[in-house]
Amino acid sequence: MKIKVGFGFDVHQLKDNHPFIVGGVDLQHHKGAFGHSDADVLLHAICDALLGAANLRDIGFHFKNTDPRWKGISSMILLQETVKLIQEKGFNVGNIDAMLCLEAPKINPHIPQMQQNIAEAIGISIDDISIKATTNETMGFIGREEGVVAYAVCLIEKNA
Ligand SMILES: [Zn+2]
Repeated sequence: MKIKVGFGFDVHQLKDNHPFIVGGVDLQHHKGAFGHSDADVLLHAICDALLGAANLRDIGFHFKNTDPRWKGISSMILLQETVKLIQEKGFNVGNIDAMLCLEAPKINPHIPQMQQNIAEAIGISIDDISIKATTNETMGFIGREEGVVAYAVCLIEKNA
């Protein structure tokens, strides 16, 4: 069994009256993340962790932010495409551990739905998707609600 670890990071600006989609859940907040796709910071960090584990460059390499195919697209589709890429290299996803860093809104009530969305997109158990959240203690761009950050690590495996 060959196992590999991957790490991902993402950041998006928050703008007033913008949808705030995180882990495929609409947070219904007065601010939201701005970007070329639906700006789902959590899914982008997870995609980069998966790509990194398989040594397949990064999300911007595969899904260019100038490509009209990806404009406004659900990042769930980017996640599914990413999983296909690592499966083409013979890997399956073991588990994912992710961390969201934002000041508001509270993420805790949404975590079960995010876990379910991600588990379904990847095709693994909800128990293999860990999502955690913290504030930045009101400091910096996260504390001022100017941006949102996500980190993720993953494990992928194949029989070798
Ligand atoms: Zn992103």
